[in-house]
Amino acid sequence: MNSDFDEVRDITVIGAGPVGMCTSFWAGMREASSRIIDSLPELGGQLTTLYPEKWVYDVPGHPRVLAKDLVELMRRQALEQFDVPVHLNTTADTISWEEDVVVLHTDKGELRSRTVIVAGGHGAFEPKKLPGFDMTPWEGRGAHYIVGEKSVFEGKRVMIVGGGDSAMDWVINLLDTASEVALVHRREGFRAHELTVGQVLEAAERGDLALHVPFQIKEVYGDGSVERVRLFHSEDEAHEIEVEVDAILLQLGFKTALGPLKDWGFEVVKGAIAVDQVMKTSLDRVWACGDITTFDGKLKLIATGFAESAVAVAQAVHEIRPETKIQPKYSTNTGVPGAVEGQP
Ligand SMILES: Cc1cc2nc3c(=O)[nH]c(=O)nc-3n(C[C@H](O)[C@H](O)[C@H](O)COP(=O)(O)OP(=O)(O)OC[C@H]3O[C@@H](n4cnc5c(N)ncnc54)[C@H](O)[C@@H]3O)c2cc1C
Repeated sequence: MNSDFDEVRDITVIGAGPVGMCTSFWAGMREASSRIIDSLPELGGQLTTLYPEKWVYDVPGHPRVLAKDLVELMRRQALEQFDVPVHLNTTADTISWEEDVVVLHTDKGELRSRTVIVAGGHGAFEPKKLPGFDMTPWEGRGAHYIVGEKSVFEGKRVMIVGGGDSAMDWVINLLDTASEVALVHRREGFRAHELTVGQVLEAAERGDLALHVPFQIKEVYGDGSVERVRLFHSEDEAHEIEVEVDAILLQLGFKTALGPLKDWGFEVVKGAIAVDQVMKTSLDRVWACGDITTFDGKLKLIATGFAESAVAVAQAVHEIRPETKIQPKYSTNTGVPGAVEGQP
């Protein structure tokens, strides 16, 4: 991956959500080189972060598909078939231009490409941290913010922290996977869908989970990884209890904002990047697609994001190599260029 910092690619894609991965797929089909960067530690954007275990019913060709499975299919189609370096945990902070090259200044170094396509969704995602207790030393040692695969919690004693929809959803979702589930919330009430809250309370009554409300984390203990958590009662701090756990899942929501992108000079309308009918932004050699864009008639859907990325890539490739046609050749005729054995 380090050598990628010395290369000039055709397209740098900001965002490894479904639309960012699709952008790299279209780039590969147009025989353009690309790379992807994302501030998150995993591929998939909102699908991985917010609803990996939910069924998606409106991606044409899939009567229904689990969000996490769609991410995996996109990974195979876009990243396995083509040479696409993926820089995770990498945030694009600023942008500058050097003659024909666009330079992205990231927290890991400078990345150069002939064009940039922003598929940044709602902006760089960042999990909200626990107020009042620094969980950083336990990150990677049993403390999680994102669930890529439920199986990570197979047979484990999991403490879920939070009182919103994602905390409730994960309580229900992990009951069949974790050996024990405990829910910790600092207030009495939950801010989640009534139906899910009802399911959680019923499960607690049945004894399927331990409810610690209103409690907060005071200390975490463990030799190398999380083993025990000390909680205190929100209204009576002297009242403390200890719970043995193997993992802590913090579900306190995500901060999403255009973040650094808002200072790049884009025309921004209601928190989104304004683009024209060919997905061009107001910045030189920069296009955008997916949830981050706005234009007349905009739909924030995976399927429309896929189509927007095809348009953006066609334009970017035409800018780099003006002799290439905007309209791609049909894949039924070309196959996957240079990728699949036996195809023309
Ligand atoms: C609960 C829920 C259910 C949904 N259900 C459906 C559904 O059934 N059907 C449907 O079509 N849509 C659904 N959606 C909407 C769908 O998830 C979005 O339309 C889709 O995720 C947009 O994809 P994207 O790639 O544009 O953005 P995202 O998925 O948001 O990905 C953008 C990525 O860009 C990264 N990023 C942003 N800025 C930077 C930066 N400066 N540096 C580095 N990385 C950056 C972010 O970290 C993120 O990973 C749902 C959304 C939610 C929240």
